[in-house]
Amino acid sequence: MDGNAKNHDGRALIGLADPLPVSGKTMGYVRVPYSRNESAYGFIAAPITVIANGDGPTALFLAGSQGDEFEGQIALSRLAQEIEPDAVTGRIIIFPMANTSAAEAGQRNSPIDGLNLNRTYPGDIRGRITEIMANYIERALMPESDFVVDLHSGGASLEYLPSAAFLDHPDPNERARRLAIAMAFGAPSILFWKANEDRTSSGAARRAGSVRISAEIGGGSRVTGAHVATTYNGVRNVLAWAGILPFPEAPAAPGPVVREVDMERDYLYALEPGLFEPLVSLGDDIVAGQLVGRIHDPSTPGSMPHDIRTDVAGTVVCLRSLTKTDRGDCVLHVGRAPQSQLLAEIESARGLTWVSDLYRRRRPRVRRTPKGESDET
Ligand SMILES: [Zn+2]
Repeated sequence: MDGNAKNHDGRALIGLADPLPVSGKTMGYVRVPYSRNESAYGFIAAPITVIANGDGPTALFLAGSQGDEFEGQIALSRLAQEIEPDAVTGRIIIFPMANTSAAEAGQRNSPIDGLNLNRTYPGDIRGRITEIMANYIERALMPESDFVVDLHSGGASLEYLPSAAFLDHPDPNERARRLAIAMAFGAPSILFWKANEDRTSSGAARRAGSVRISAEIGGGSRVTGAHVATTYNGVRNVLAWAGILPFPEAPAAPGPVVREVDMERDYLYALEPGLFEPLVSLGDDIVAGQLVGRIHDPSTPGSMPHDIRTDVAGTVVCLRSLTKTDRGDCVLHVGRAPQSQLLAEIESARGLTWVSDLYRRRRPRVRRTPKGESDET
């Protein structure tokens, strides 16, 4: 137990304004006040584990930003249970149910306020419960962290080709820092996303002086052992890359396939309601004009299915897994081969160890003198 965290029943209770522990292993809850008719002084208990030892970088891992995305929640719970401080150089912050009320309900958005955490940053300490969670993550967790990994999946309605992911940024150095973490994650695929990041954890991390990537692994309302393993191994790989955990015994996988995704260009939507029958699979390469799915209307006898032909070309990296479909639902999106500029950046980001380099520079070197005085440089 460390800092101001109160110990209840062996578990820490950390207030929204309390400092985070700086040594040892602390497991417990962030206390997010939630006064309601049935519980005047009640709180939402957001699970947190902090494992810290010695001088080194701080890594923040989020899962459950959308409460129907389970792979990261399971992988982080296992890591929180098994990592002990003596294996750590630096600090690991594990926040596995980031939008706790959504994760408790197993729903994408919070059932209390209907909000999606990853569209709510920077949040508001005086706002609704998801806004308070976003504010806590951006204001309290991210400024303490050199980098952030936000673990996602397709949730209830989508499934993803297992991928690390990061958002584009105009600053090439920022892009390189993000790309280096994404490559360290070791997933077979990397998605380079062109989208507005301000309301997401990527924008939150940037405002907080940290660097964030995400992962999109699996989904479809259920987990597989393989998807949990890819998520778990990715977290361990990133911790080893940052010098926080020793390198794993297993050699790193061969280099990932990097694909660009433009939210304005590469998403395909249903324009009729009905039952979605996909005619392609994750990982398939599709061409413009290809028939990729049908929408059926069994309520109208004799009706012909509505064909969905794509006007986008690329590899299917995300596919709708929910059959019942409404007008306006995304049925798939593709990733495309990266432009030559990104290909060059991938090469230069390979082996970029900016987190541990940064920390080596920041750490004061102490040279003992015969008089016992120290000489800090
Ligand atoms: Zn998500």
